[in-house]
Amino acid sequence: MSTLVTTGVPSAQEIAGVTPPEERRARGPYATIECFQRIPCDPCHHSCRFGAIQEFEDINDIPKMDWSRCTGCGLCVAACPGLAIFVVDETYSETECLIAIPYEFAPLPAKGQEVDLTDRAGIVVAEGVVQRVVAGKKPSGTPVVWVSAPKIMATVVRGFALRKEAGVHG
Ligand code: SF4
Ligand code: SF4
Repeated sequence: MSTLVTTGVPSAQEIAGVTPPEERRARGPYATIECFQRIPCDPCHHSCRFGAIQEFEDINDIPKMDWSRCTGCGLCVAACPGLAIFVVDETYSETECLIAIPYEFAPLPAKGQEVDLTDRAGIVVAEGVVQRVVAGKKPSGTPVVWVSAPKIMATVVRGFALRKEAGVHG
């Protein structure tokens, strides 16, 4: 059973299972699908025009990635109703990575805004900067916010909070 059920956070083993090998991580952006429970849901597969999310035999299947096909476009991030998909680019710069995070709150942050980066449990772990905001396409697309983060946080950061002084909450 996924530790999501008992703790709300996936286990280190589960995270390792959805993280590509080092050599793929060093080649450019990749999607990581943190969806660990069998549920009747498959828009992730249909959203990927590159065939990187393998076809489901059963709608309850847990999605499987083919990282050799993934371009890191982020379309699947917006399409996932479970907010379970992220894109990570560890080649963004010498010191920083770029992470695409689904974001359902309003208002959306602005490009250039500094934010507090959080881990899967919602704990603030670093500071980051919003680099791109992609508004969700109606009817069901989720907005996607791309944030830069310290590179060593590439597998840790999975959310962000807007700073209080900005007058809004994340
Ligand atoms: S990031 Fe783009 S290419 Fe990669 S799995 Fe998602 S939709 Fe497919
Ligand atoms: S769309 Fe999201 S919640 Fe649904 S199966 Fe795919 S990853 Fe899981």
